Amino acid sequence: MKLNGQFEIDASRDLVFKQIINPGLMAECIPGCEVIERIDSTRYRAVVVVGMGVVKARFDLVVAITSEDPPFEVRSQTTGVEGARASSLVAENRVWLTDLGDSKTRVEYESEVNVTGRLGKFGLGVMRKYLEKIGVRFAENFKAGILSADIEVIPHKTHEEESTPIQSDPELLETTPTAHPIPENFETQEQNSSVCFPETVEDAVRLLMDEVHSFPLAGGATLVAMRNAGLVRVEKYICLERIETLHGISVQDDGRIRIGAMTRHYEVADSTVLTGNLAVIRQAAAAIANMPVRNMGTMGGALAHADPAADYLAALAVVDAEIELFGPRGARTVGIGEWILNWYETCLNSDELIKAIHLPPPAESYSSYRKVARVSGDYAVATCAISVEAHHQQVRIAIGGCGPAPLRDPDHEFVLRGESLIDDELQSLVKNLITRADPIDDVRGSAEYRIRLIPRLAQDAVTGLLEAQASSS
Ligand SMILES: Cc1cc2nc3c(=O)[nH]c(=O)nc-3n(C[C@H](O)[C@H](O)[C@H](O)COP(=O)(O)OP(=O)(O)OC[C@H]3O[C@@H](n4cnc5c(N)ncnc54)[C@H](O)[C@@H]3O)c2cc1C
Repeated sequence: MKLNGQFEIDASRDLVFKQIINPGLMAECIPGCEVIERIDSTRYRAVVVVGMGVVKARFDLVVAITSEDPPFEVRSQTTGVEGARASSLVAENRVWLTDLGDSKTRVEYESEVNVTGRLGKFGLGVMRKYLEKIGVRFAENFKAGILSADIEVIPHKTHEEESTPIQSDPELLETTPTAHPIPENFETQEQNSSVCFPETVEDAVRLLMDEVHSFPLAGGATLVAMRNAGLVRVEKYICLERIETLHGISVQDDGRIRIGAMTRHYEVADSTVLTGNLAVIRQAAAAIANMPVRNMGTMGGALAHADPAADYLAALAVVDAEIELFGPRGARTVGIGEWILNWYETCLNSDELIKAIHLPPPAESYSSYRKVARVSGDYAVATCAISVEAHHQQVRIAIGGCGPAPLRDPDHEFVLRGESLIDDELQSLVKNLITRADPIDDVRGSAEYRIRLIPRLAQDAVTGLLEAQASSS
């Protein structure tokens, strides 16, 4: 996978070059970098921690400078493995500097990165997004760091300058990774996982706090598969099945709907209380995979995993769902719009549970849901949910699968005033949604294809909405 980027700095090219090869500053600027130390004249060892949702990895890297042309260009090679040797990384990097005058410098970089092993399985599309974000944060840190007087400059020596070469630490070199270090039997190495069955959310949270590698277990549809693929290390499953309060769909005294986190997809799809504008949640549940998956998977598990292609996300976004959490610091509620922070990353803390999903009382109104998948039963390439707010006939549209979280643009959502007016308003909304999209390339479809699906899905969903409206009158 090829990554590239550029940024500009208010500093001279000589200073930028000196700092770009200064491990002291690099350690401060690379997000997740815990250590950088020098091995010899051209090689550094770095420990970098990466995290994508529940998948966490600690890479032991060696950065070897392969050529230097001060103050213009530096090339390097990065090789490394994860602590557990479950993934390996090889990257060829080039950084070059352009003097823009007035003590300004443009830094450009490109990197050919190859990740194999468990993180490779996670999907290069998501990995690319993660590394692009790291690049942006690096640039911000570097710009701030270069102007800071606190950063120690560790002098970098070329071969010629170095009269007495620094001795490499033999122990360090012994652990220096090779390019293909994954043991063949990695996936079959048994992780010893135990399961416990708390009966209250308080007990479940206590158990979560006891053990770093413990995870709530809902249906296991995703967690067990990820664990078996070596993507997560699970030492203790906290099975939520016996916690009664997490099950079922109920209408509260104020008319609001409460869906317990352990409610299975098939129960949501069959619910008789999700009517009117909330029917979109039923339709999304019915579109999930196939019957075995709908019998197994839960709404809480789907929200915690936050797969950008998950069917619920766009549907929950158009009905203003709220997510009730419980953890050691008590209960809190998060709106669906604030739920997802990044790819597979939510605001759920590792010691918190999702207790329930809350929906406003169903309005005598309409909704519709559309999904494009390669084959029936597959995850979506992209989705669209639409609902009409009963009072003002305001249309709400969310697109799923085209970014880490569903896309909405409330400023361009329009009022339903008759079919003839929809086209222009829809087109303007779609144009704005496309500018907000940030899709990945993956096995299900290219980023470009996903963008092209947005207008089609939005149009189809509007048609579904108008049909629902017509059939009720
Ligand atoms: C073959 C297959 C096809 C699928 N196709 C689709 C599809 O088309 N559309 C779609 O939307 N989804 C699809 N899914 C995903 C499915 O919808 C699952 O519901 C979802 O992945 C979560 O599974 P689960 O509820 O069993 O949770 P688990 O797998 O048990 O857990 C998933 C994650 O959520 C955490 N978790 C679970 N419950 C809670 C809680 N209450 N509080 C805090 N954390 C919690 C777990 O610790 C884990 O990290 C598919 C899954 C499979 C296996």
